[in-house]
Amino acid sequence: MVGGGQLARMTHEAGIPLGIKFKLLSDTPQDSAAQVVSEVVIGDHRDLDTLRDFARGCDVITFDHEHVPTEHLRALEADGIPVRPGPDALVHAQDKGVMRAKLDEIGVPSPRHRIVKDPADAAAFAREVSGAQRLDEGRWPGDGRAGGFPVILKTVRGGYDGKGVWFVRSEEEARDPFLAGVPVLAEEKVDFVRELAANIVRSPHGQAVAYPVVESRQVDGVCDTVIAPAPDLDPELAGQAQQLALRVAKELGVVGHLAVELFETTDGRILVNELAMRPHNSGHWTQDGAVTSQFANHVRAVLDLPLGDPRPRAKWTVMCNVLGGDYPDMYAAYLHCMARDPQLKIHMYGKDVKPGRKVGHVNTYGDDLDDVLERARHAAGYLRGTIVE
Ligand code: ADP
Repeated sequence: MVGGGQLARMTHEAGIPLGIKFKLLSDTPQDSAAQVVSEVVIGDHRDLDTLRDFARGCDVITFDHEHVPTEHLRALEADGIPVRPGPDALVHAQDKGVMRAKLDEIGVPSPRHRIVKDPADAAAFAREVSGAQRLDEGRWPGDGRAGGFPVILKTVRGGYDGKGVWFVRSEEEARDPFLAGVPVLAEEKVDFVRELAANIVRSPHGQAVAYPVVESRQVDGVCDTVIAPAPDLDPELAGQAQQLALRVAKELGVVGHLAVELFETTDGRILVNELAMRPHNSGHWTQDGAVTSQFANHVRAVLDLPLGDPRPRAKWTVMCNVLGGDYPDMYAAYLHCMARDPQLKIHMYGKDVKPGRKVGHVNTYGDDLDDVLERARHAAGYLRGTIVE
């Protein structure tokens, strides 16, 4: 696996019962997975020679992140190393512009969008999508949506956890996204009631399984809580979301776990926000809440083994991320959390605690959603230090 983050750490964990030999390419020995995997190569995933050396002796390569340059993946494939997901699929998770164009081509609904070349072009886009009409005196209508703003601007590559995404209210504010020198994608600001994720796993010979659609709640652009299944979701819409994810995976040739992040709009539609082709935060609940976890199924898919049952094991499972807070060591909080909720499962990533950094997550489950939510939130807050009793 290329990339030493928590996704690699948990994928490695899922491979242990199968006796899979797991080799890791990691930036530093301190990375989350590098601390626990026995065969670690320290090196830069952007360097082709490093990748080639690493790949020697591997039966198959998969990823913890999307940052390996697409042309390097093609070179590895040309060397005869199976890369899963392959570059033709992965490019859609690497580049938001390519992803939007492909979804348009295959008729999958997205927010309205186009690549914009500068702040003035972003302003033109804002007017296009809002249908804003210029007033006679040469101004644009007011009320905080002057000239059709706000819109969302995104750098097409390199963003994560809300970085690389700007909520822009004016042409002035539209300057920053262009500073990185990366193409900028403009999107209409979607009025959504909530964010959902449709997670599926697909194997090379085309077997696929779909997890229940989940609700994902973000705080400051970072995933905070995932509820499985999404409460009160119209079964028809849930089925559409699963079908849509399966279709995207098939059309793009995805192998492994695919997370399709969705908006449920105020007028009852679903629009695709993002694709991730690896295990994903919205699937962490499956470790304790599904018959087969996303990590176990990702391993199976990458090895082209039959996929495991994706069905939930409890009526409700809630995952809350644990962010870094005031305590450098969260171990002292385990006593309270475990004693309070025997169903609680704590997953820590071995990362240094820094304020706001994702350092772990908790899962818990049960029959009463309010109770399950309260228990998960309490544990995550107690570990972070925002709840003290
Ligand atoms: P990344 O995952 O790379 O950080 P996303 O594209 O998922 O970036 O955007 C981060 C968050 O910004 C989303 O979860 C959503 O809350 C908000 N967002 C992104 N695009 C839009 C949009 N077109 N309309 C409204 N909100 C958006």
